Amino acid sequence: MNIQKIHLRAPAKINLHLEVLGKRMDGYHELAMVMQSINLFDYLDIRLNNSDEINLSSNAKDLDVSNENLIIKAAYLLKKKFNDRVLGADIYLEKNIPIGAGLAGGSSNAAATLVGLNELWDLRLKSCDLHGLGAMIGSDVPFCINGGTQYCFGRGEILEEFKLNSNYGLLLIKNPDTSLSTAEIYKKYSSLFNLSDVSLKNEINVKRNELRNIGFEKANFINKGINIRNDLQIIAKKESPSVKKGLGLLSDLEHRLCYSMSGSGPSCYAIFENINIAKKCYQDNIAKLNKENFDVWCCNFLDHGVLVD
Ligand code: C5P
Repeated sequence: MNIQKIHLRAPAKINLHLEVLGKRMDGYHELAMVMQSINLFDYLDIRLNNSDEINLSSNAKDLDVSNENLIIKAAYLLKKKFNDRVLGADIYLEKNIPIGAGLAGGSSNAAATLVGLNELWDLRLKSCDLHGLGAMIGSDVPFCINGGTQYCFGRGEILEEFKLNSNYGLLLIKNPDTSLSTAEIYKKYSSLFNLSDVSLKNEINVKRNELRNIGFEKANFINKGINIRNDLQIIAKKESPSVKKGLGLLSDLEHRLCYSMSGSGPSCYAIFENINIAKKCYQDNIAKLNKENFDVWCCNFLDHGVLVD
């Protein structure tokens, strides 16, 4: 018997490294990144319906549930591949990951939709097919499918998974009144540094190897063997005072190993040796951070992406 409904978890991600190598002929930027899934989840409840339609609803009142939503885009992309079949679904999204925050919430929702509908509609697409479709929706969607810890190259869709030997804890902060447009941040970065096209394969390979050789596998944040890098931070700091203020507050936290912005911002995080130290820091600083108008989450790293519950 076919299943009638499916429940999925879609985790957020942070960037442990975001390096812009140059501008590409297709208008995107060539990147070298390390992305890391964290246990801040959106939840998707997907049910079969007998129509040929996709309906989306959510607890988030400020969320766009029109055809521009990446969940709807993902569902219609799948439907188009099987357009001789009647495929419908009612999707309810419980939104917990802040929107426009640099945490890939929308991309993770799209990844969960691909995984969920592939099962619910019994499409039997392989993982590589889902990755290909994901890349058509957004640069971070392929990462979000398997998640965990991965090097992400190209425009973000060329992936190499690896394991971090750590129990790091994390404090994540975001001003609820600020969101940043990824496209705008990249555009401003490009014009500030007058970026030229990168097309030389050799040059790109050298940069990829440099990142692989930094030693993220051992992730030695503790003795400061690794510096967290996010090239977009310089732009986001100019665009949003909350980024500058947030990074300042994180730098003052006791026992933090390092701190940075995630993706194109404006959310920022600090890393701690383990989750207990992060929890203690959360308790000691939540009142102060709230007073400065930051929402705060205490999280740990995950070794997976989308999960079917
Ligand atoms: O791929 P995605 O649609 O999520 O990207 C949003 C925007 O961010 C793109 O339209 C582009 O302007 C910018 N971007 C970029 N280079 C990347 C990824 C995103 O310029 N590698």
